[in-house]
Amino acid sequence: MRKQILLIYTGGTIGMIHSREGYSPASGLQALIDAKIPPIIAVDMPRYDLLEYADPLDSSDMQPPDWQTIALDIHQRYQDYDGFVVLHGTDTMAYTTSALSFMLQGLGKPVIVTGSQIPLTELRNDAQTNLVTAFELASAHPIPEVCLYFNDHLLRGNRAIKQRATGFEAFTSPNYPELADVGIYIALNRSAILPAPEKTNFSFPDYRHHQVRVLNLYPGIQADVVNAVCKPPCRALILRTYGVGNGPASDKSLLKALEAANKAGIVIISVTQCASGGVTSNAYASGSRLAATGMISAKDMTLEAAFTKLHHLCASGCSAEEMKSLLPKSFAGEVSP
Ligand code: ASP
Repeated sequence: MRKQILLIYTGGTIGMIHSREGYSPASGLQALIDAKIPPIIAVDMPRYDLLEYADPLDSSDMQPPDWQTIALDIHQRYQDYDGFVVLHGTDTMAYTTSALSFMLQGLGKPVIVTGSQIPLTELRNDAQTNLVTAFELASAHPIPEVCLYFNDHLLRGNRAIKQRATGFEAFTSPNYPELADVGIYIALNRSAILPAPEKTNFSFPDYRHHQVRVLNLYPGIQADVVNAVCKPPCRALILRTYGVGNGPASDKSLLKALEAANKAGIVIISVTQCASGGVTSNAYASGSRLAATGMISAKDMTLEAAFTKLHHLCASGCSAEEMKSLLPKSFAGEVSP
């Protein structure tokens, strides 16, 4: 029997049209798909229903409750479909795929998130092939994960980062292997894919509170910047440290500010500013001194995974101690053991 897929259209370049200000989100995806993929070709596609959001967004406008809307839409229709394809803008796609992986733990069906760098309306585009391959992945392959598919790369959603603002090779997964070799044939990298779960463990805590903050270290950063960022309602701070977790550790007032925030119950976690590799806080005295303020290591998590994981834990009502013990543990393959 032909598989049944739910196609969720949230917005993004894939469905955008020209406006005087540049590309803008647009409604009416079905007509566009019908025009670009005529019935003679569409006959080979899986059967799908389209759920088009009333207000398609440029993903740079997306907020945590928008991630939750997508997760809930999948949850509410979970039994009715064999797989899910989500069309989304590329700018914050890796945040959304990470957040979905935390809300949809124990997922037993493929959720393939994709988009494009050039809209489907253009003659030359990457939209059509990304869409068609995402359909194929969601309908014909046993992948019990939230994935990001782009330009022949199938990546674990919570391991992906956007690496290029222009160019079709927009996404990469610096600290985890790709989940498939996508060419003329599609060969899954089975040992890299999560095992089929025994049961779903979905959870949808209230995502409306903005309690996680991000601060990039830069040469000359002052303690008052840390103090300002850690003001209520901040409950967790991601410090983007240099290299393997280093920072200006000879600045005593900066260390004091971090220590005070930690004592006040703010969870501080170190995520490297580098695109690949992770944090090993004790490799340098500098990193050890930062860690001594109570900061914990995100290991090889991406910024997007660390941010959405903290957001999920805060929303779930975890205490600072609970967050510190849960953060290094893998929920959906986002961090290496
Ligand atoms: N600004 C667009 C978006 O994220 C970029 C894209 O889709 O490629 O929605």
